[in-house]
Amino acid sequence: MNDNYVALKETLDSSNCTLIAVSKTQAKEAILNLYKNGQRNFGENKVQELAEKYTHLPKDIQWHLIGHLQTNKVKTIVPFVYLIHSIDSLKLLQEINREANKINRTINVLLQIYIAKEESKFGLDAKQAIDIVETYLDKDTYLTHVRICGIMGMATNTDDLEIRKEEFKQLKEFYQFLKASYFLNKPEFKEISMGMSDDYTIAIEQGATMVRIGSLLFGNRN
Ligand SMILES: *Cc1c(COP(=O)(O)O)cnc(C)c1O
Repeated sequence: MNDNYVALKETLDSSNCTLIAVSKTQAKEAILNLYKNGQRNFGENKVQELAEKYTHLPKDIQWHLIGHLQTNKVKTIVPFVYLIHSIDSLKLLQEINREANKINRTINVLLQIYIAKEESKFGLDAKQAIDIVETYLDKDTYLTHVRICGIMGMATNTDDLEIRKEEFKQLKEFYQFLKASYFLNKPEFKEISMGMSDDYTIAIEQGATMVRIGSLLFGNRN
């Protein structure tokens, strides 16, 4: 496992890409093992599990929420979460803003964009994403305690890597469109979170700035 980690880190560092170690279902010992190797960014997809691990693990870990977030669970993670990758509605963004305002934090988020050719995944289409961005940038909406830092996407779960590559390319192009149209004077809008254990190399080729990798680091999930 540590050999995998070291090799992966080298590849990612040379591409200026951040590794999010996806630790869902993994024991705290396995997380600590990577932590001791220097890993600080970890990703979870369930709020309860994330909160539990936050409580018991070192406080300088940067916790990423990468799974769907229900509005009624926002307040559990707002006090400590580092980056939420999965904004899929304006309502969710408003709720995060409201809870963050109460404790005077500003929460970094990514808009989750739907790129896969599957029915079951969460995410925004281009128009929904643009609507959210315009609302966010409108001073009158007071979304002052959230900070949109980029976009996230998941490719179709298929063996056909050409399809995944095409989807990553689309995500990158949509990022560039948003950057040029809305975020030119906002340096924090710089992240493209895409790529997992079996497609991260193509994601990096297509311009990923963050990859979310679980099984390659930890072995198969329980
Ligand atoms: C589980 C998960 C990953 C990591 O998947 P692996 O194939 O184990 O690398 C990445 N992103 C999301 C949103 C996930 O839920």
